[in-house]
Amino acid sequence: MAFANGRIPTKNLAALPLAFSNKREQERLTSAAYASLVRMMLRAVADTGSYFSVWDAYRSLDEQVAMLERNYTRVSRPRGPSSDRSYGGSTWAKKAGRPLTASPGYSNHGNGLAVDIHPGPIQAWMKTNAARFGWVNDVPSEPWHWSYLNPGRDQYRSEGLPNVSAMQKKLGVEADGKPGKDFIAAVKKFQKANGLDVDGKAGPSTVKAILAGKGEAGQVESSPDPVKSPDETVLELAAPPTVEKGKTSPNSHAGRVDPRDGKKYGVQHVTVHWWGTPSGQAFDGIVAHLCNKAAEVSAHYVISASRVARSWTRPTRRGRTATGPRTSSPSRSSATRTTSPAPSRSSPR
Ligand SMILES: [Zn+2]
Repeated sequence: MAFANGRIPTKNLAALPLAFSNKREQERLTSAAYASLVRMMLRAVADTGSYFSVWDAYRSLDEQVAMLERNYTRVSRPRGPSSDRSYGGSTWAKKAGRPLTASPGYSNHGNGLAVDIHPGPIQAWMKTNAARFGWVNDVPSEPWHWSYLNPGRDQYRSEGLPNVSAMQKKLGVEADGKPGKDFIAAVKKFQKANGLDVDGKAGPSTVKAILAGKGEAGQVESSPDPVKSPDETVLELAAPPTVEKGKTSPNSHAGRVDPRDGKKYGVQHVTVHWWGTPSGQAFDGIVAHLCNKAAEVSAHYVISASRVARSWTRPTRRGRTATGPRTSSPSRSSATRTTSPAPSRSSPR
């Protein structure tokens, strides 16, 4: 993380829907933690039938210091009990009846990765399930405190940030962006009506079905002639593919400030991603991941082997033939040829 604990600029954090907060305050997390929280709550609420609310998320350093001063007193002795904290060159002792508080600069709230989440049924569900979403109860004495510390173990990352408010609009329920009980009930109804598994969980296929609009499929023109690249690879364009519209990324990031170096970048090229063997990642999941506002990515078109083009290697002069379709990234020329610039949509999905 490029920013110190408690020093993440607001613009580098994702704003949670106000409905997430028990105080209807603006809570923030990193965009990755926020997207994961949404994916997790889509399941937790469906499984438990409970609502959830976030009591706290990102905490600036000032907020962390204020919290320490509320709950602790500065003392002139070395650290003793495990509840002691260090800050500003002093030892701090917990006031009687006040909650444990992390030393400023050491809480994952300051990294935008932690939430304090309630009520009990959601916490109990997380105890059993949160690990596969990448979350850890990193302060075991606080069953409400969970941090997104293991994104590598998050099995749902390819789903990106499910657009809950867009689904709510399609389903005709209040579009507050929060997966609540009404939303889950509407998802179940939709699933039943559309022959999907009726579990109330808005996984990739359900999200796609809910968001699918009519008459959006279009055609993209492509050259009918094989294209020869400098490395003798011949690319044959498949039948003109249907471009799945409505998946164009809204995150064009004009004047985007890269959180890693603080510099401003416009989009200067389109990145083509090749998903398939051996990555095994689902096409639709990748699209969902790349095409959401909060993601720290700005790629726009996803190409899979079967949906856009296939390629093979020409027999060499010695008569040997490379075997099978290539599964590596398409060459620059193929990328150029196969990605016709579709009209960009500025309206969010
Ligand atoms: Zn906490």
